[in-house]
Amino acid sequence: ARRTGLFAPRGYEPRLEEELARRLLIETELREAIADDRLVPYFQPLVRLGDGTTHGFEALARWPRPDGSFVPPDIFIGIAENAGLVTKLSDNLLRSACRVARAWPANLILYFNISPRQLTDRLLVSRILRILEEVDFPPNRLSVEITESAIIDDIAGALRILDQLRAADVRVALDDFGTGYSSFAQLARFPFNTIKIDRHFTASILENEKQTKIVRSLLRLSSALEVSMLAEGIETVEQCARLRAMGCYLGQGYLLGRPMPAEAVPGFLEQASAR
Ligand code: C2E
Ligand code: CA
Ligand code: CA
Ligand code: CA
Repeated sequence: ARRTGLFAPRGYEPRLEEELARRLLIETELREAIADDRLVPYFQPLVRLGDGTTHGFEALARWPRPDGSFVPPDIFIGIAENAGLVTKLSDNLLRSACRVARAWPANLILYFNISPRQLTDRLLVSRILRILEEVDFPPNRLSVEITESAIIDDIAGALRILDQLRAADVRVALDDFGTGYSSFAQLARFPFNTIKIDRHFTASILENEKQTKIVRSLLRLSSALEVSMLAEGIETVEQCARLRAMGCYLGQGYLLGRPMPAEAVPGFLEQASAR
């Protein structure tokens, strides 16, 4: 059989030209999907660990396949970046996500991911602000997530963008904290409202005393700096209880709620308030 699908079987080592052909095929299909606005945001809740109430939702890009399954964003975001498609993809997605979030209770924050490549885009902030205006979404209800590695690549450029966003009253969050090599002290110079601790820390806090100490000191520092800390990837009741006891303000993960389509959000909020 010819391997023309989006994915080769596991364990199969494609030759270079096959790999290139596969990428090109994905790129062609992705270009059409973006042009037709077929990518959709899913929404995963961010929960206050103290009382279980919902603080907001993170928009996560989903590319539906005809069979109802999804191509994972880890695959298509990189391809979109290399093919020069990420601006259109991101703008469309932000517009869709804001239209959805506009109907939520007004205290809920929409978290939205920006890829490292987008930080080099001089018009990024003005486009974000234009979209907010166009869909009538308050800037202070949007939080833009940027990863640590993206910032380290170009500290001055990243700082300029973060300052522009803060000046426009848009919130900013550091994503995947702990996966790069920067120190907390370095990052304290940036105007983050929220720091999201990468899920490998969450996974290790029950097993590894040293990691627990690191997380605990991060949580202490953050309260001094008035940054809200969020633990990503909470999957078990034990992890959740431990993080709550350590004073972590927010959590996100399969235990607290999986990414869901827009239609499922009102039901989730109703159930959460009944708990
Ligand atoms: P991320 O921003 O770190 O998003 C969190 C990822 O962890 C999501 O994967 C989410 O579904 C997954 N996750 C949530 N809770 C748990 C848990 O308890 N356990 C585990 N194992 N995983 C959990 P997803 O949706 O596949 O997205 C992967 C990455 O793709 C994101 O990582 C983000 O870097 C990127 N991405 C997604 N949507 C967008 C987008 O709209 N724009 C950009 N630039 N990147 C996006
Ligand atoms: Ca994120
Ligand atoms: Ca993350
Ligand atoms: Ca990530």
